[in-house]
Amino acid sequence: MLEDKLNFSFEHSFVDSLGSLYEKCRPESVSSPSMLFFNYQLAEELNLNPLHLNSDEGLQFFSGNKAPIGSIQISQAYAGHQFGHYNPKMGDGRAILLGEVIDANKLRRDIQLKGCGQTPFSRRGDGKSALGPVLREYLISESMHALGIPTSRSLAAVKTGENVLREDILPGGILTRVAASHIRIGTFEYASKLEDKNVIKKLADYSINRHFPETADVENPYLAFFAAVCNEQASLVAKWMSIGFVHGVMNTDNMTISGETIDYGPCAFMDIYNPSTVFSSIDANGRYAYGNQPGILTWNLTRLAEALLPLISKNKDESIKLLTEVLQLIKPVYTNYWLSIMRSKIGLSKEEQNDVELIIGFLEIMEEEKVDFTITFRLLAKSLIGDSKSIKKLFNNSRRFDGWMMTWQERLSQEGIDYEKIAFSMNKVNPIYIPRNHKVEEALKAAVSDDNIEPFTNLYSILQNPYDEVFGLESFSGPPPESDIPYRTFCGT
Ligand code: AMP
Ligand code: MG
Repeated sequence: MLEDKLNFSFEHSFVDSLGSLYEKCRPESVSSPSMLFFNYQLAEELNLNPLHLNSDEGLQFFSGNKAPIGSIQISQAYAGHQFGHYNPKMGDGRAILLGEVIDANKLRRDIQLKGCGQTPFSRRGDGKSALGPVLREYLISESMHALGIPTSRSLAAVKTGENVLREDILPGGILTRVAASHIRIGTFEYASKLEDKNVIKKLADYSINRHFPETADVENPYLAFFAAVCNEQASLVAKWMSIGFVHGVMNTDNMTISGETIDYGPCAFMDIYNPSTVFSSIDANGRYAYGNQPGILTWNLTRLAEALLPLISKNKDESIKLLTEVLQLIKPVYTNYWLSIMRSKIGLSKEEQNDVELIIGFLEIMEEEKVDFTITFRLLAKSLIGDSKSIKKLFNNSRRFDGWMMTWQERLSQEGIDYEKIAFSMNKVNPIYIPRNHKVEEALKAAVSDDNIEPFTNLYSILQNPYDEVFGLESFSGPPPESDIPYRTFCGT
């Protein structure tokens, strides 16, 4: 009876369609797992019973100790460009897909364990995850979701009860990750290099069917598919930029075809606005700095275009011409998305010619005055409803900022909407609570080193309502206390 209640009703369309793109494997068992965090809301969204899953029996699944009924466990193959260099054989070295479920919205979602031991793709790695990065991914991915950014989700975070060896000995963890799929640009790169030329076509057909069925019936479906992926990723990166998110490792294997954010490694949110912000300790040259993300978007999609070349036309020159035309659209498409969000961030709902200069001018002053990215937009809204002192103070009473405010207010008057309503709509797109690095570190330290999950739980719940200011939570909305040491993030291995 209990078994039935825990039935995920798994489907396996990837396994059924794409035989050369995975290997079957099994998670390693762990001795004394415990559930640290479980996502009730997401379980419901997935048509699963949260009460049944958050149980001793469920824990056996989420720790990899027991395969749920109907699961076919696999790791997916992919290649990728890592920091610009091609790596032909990567794949899920520490992740195992349990199966696909059809969620309450009739969408197909992958359920995957991350950190459950070696797979055929592990190379020299142990296939495990430390608990800190598991909790970090859980917190940030769910915060991204609450912010309205497409993202993989987190269903469960398990402490394995075993240690993993990194630079230090650390407690181990396993994340249950949910995603629209785990197909990456790198999956296409891998398929395109296989001897069997049919695989790339099968993968493209599968991806069209799963993610962009509307492109199946047009004249050149593969070209339309490519344009659709470009569109989704451009929209995604524009959203990242609008909230100061730095992914940190925008390698082609970390960019999904679905347009969801995936692989939360050394990502972080920028405090002080500076386009050259880099957090990752491995990104010494700043390839994936905040301000480089839109450029990298095109670079990555060019790698996807290369993989799709044989599918576009029998004539290679014609394929290159058609794909290049789409590639050239990425920048304007991205800019449109970006402009539209940035307009709403400064309270504009109409479109005027000079809006771009107004927005860029504001960003330039923000950079010059080294202000906090998130707080600035909230204070800008406040300036419309009686508190203009706070933002002036933030900008050190800069003359240039005063001038900008006058131009902005003139532009706002063309909107024909009263200031209170404008401020209200600005606060719907400008979050007040983001996962600030110092708060994330504080919560992780308590959870991992002091066995105290409370700060994590508290931060998690605050981040679930990122746009609504709550009295008494001032310490969560502000930048970190002054510090000379730049914040560094490390890969989630
Ligand atoms: P990531 O930095 O998470 O995007 O991972 C890059 C590559 O390294 C992927 O192929 C991962 O599967 C692999 N990898 C990361 N951590 C481990 C690990 N602990 N054991 C084995 N493979 C890993
Ligand atoms: Mg990855």
